[in-house]
Amino acid sequence: MSNTIQRETQFGAHNYHPLPVVLVKGKGALVWDENGKEYIDMMSAYSAVSHGHQHPKIVQALEKQLARLAIVSRSYYTDVLADFLQYACELLGYDKALPMNTGAEAVETALKLARKWGYQVKQVPSDQAEIIACRNNFHGRTIAIVGMSTEPQYREDFGPFPAGFKVIPYGDINTLEKAITPNTVAFIVEPIQGEAGIILPPPGYLKQCKDLCVRHNVLFIADEIQSGLGRAGKRLACDHENVHPDILVLGKALGGGVLPVSLVLADDPIMSVLRPGDHGSTFGGYALAAAVGLAALKALEEEGLAERAAVLGERLMKGLKTISHPAIKDIRGKGLMIGIELDPTILEGRTVALKLLEQGILTKETHQVVIRLAPPLVISEALIDRAIEIIRQVFSELK
Ligand SMILES: *Cc1c(COP(=O)(O)O)cnc(C)c1O
Repeated sequence: MSNTIQRETQFGAHNYHPLPVVLVKGKGALVWDENGKEYIDMMSAYSAVSHGHQHPKIVQALEKQLARLAIVSRSYYTDVLADFLQYACELLGYDKALPMNTGAEAVETALKLARKWGYQVKQVPSDQAEIIACRNNFHGRTIAIVGMSTEPQYREDFGPFPAGFKVIPYGDINTLEKAITPNTVAFIVEPIQGEAGIILPPPGYLKQCKDLCVRHNVLFIADEIQSGLGRAGKRLACDHENVHPDILVLGKALGGGVLPVSLVLADDPIMSVLRPGDHGSTFGGYALAAAVGLAALKALEEEGLAERAAVLGERLMKGLKTISHPAIKDIRGKGLMIGIELDPTILEGRTVALKLLEQGILTKETHQVVIRLAPPLVISEALIDRAIEIIRQVFSELK
């Protein structure tokens, strides 16, 4: 075992089980390990690297800002945060945005915002607010958020959890209707469930959910931390159904592959319930993050990355569908967010991920059964084609 891996294993908590590779460099859709071996990055750090490694304009924005001013806290104004927030609001069609750092923090922010809106605007009785989430959701790792999870390992021995959350099946509009009560303040949903294994809801589901929420004065919260910002072949995955969420949560790719940057967007009637002191984060919206977030959003638009994801996603999907193996149960996804579902009695996800690693492709299995393929949106056609051939080869050797 490499000395680096041995030491990380010795000194790092074992809350992850990484594949055995030590990466030292990245550029675009490629990364290299400590021995100089090249890999196609088909993981993009779960969409955090949608712009590719070392995106020139994002790195430039980061360096320029770093040379000037990095962090001052929100106790003062900076000359970059307004630019970032204005660009995000105008691009995505919201009155206001609230900057945080990680996705989980932004989800927590959205939940707090929905609750406060519920008490102040919807007039739900004190401490009675209910939020509805979906089975197999992934919204992060805080105690409140894992309290909404249905994954036993994410919850086990971390309780007790906050009250006020209800979980319903994903993709089933009827159970949502039944679950809504006069005290329901919000419904939180991933337009595509990423961690659950790239699960797509039935067509029309998001639109039906949004309409139902409007009818019952319930906020529709879209967690687009993974599916948003071009990943699913549109600027937002919700755009596939022309759904405008009441609260939009962004993260991962918003950091341009260089920093954690997250954002919660909503219109004034919702966001204005927050007053100074209600909520915050020391780092949220710091100057570096604002410069990077702005550069990441601009690159997404100027380089047409969503359209690119749609075209390349189709190319990848088409190529993958020509691979046949008794263990492949399903290949599904949207844009460059694709999952290969395996029959684990024939082939385990980790076996495939390890074999792909050996052959120069970075992927990761989720729940042992789904191989995720989500390369940077800037990946070339040639690399997509190379990836398809490597995947074909690996499956043919895993008979
Ligand atoms: C990754 C993810 C999160 C959590 O983001 P972190 O930055 O890891 O806290 C939340 N929701 C979804 C849909 C995600 O994919």
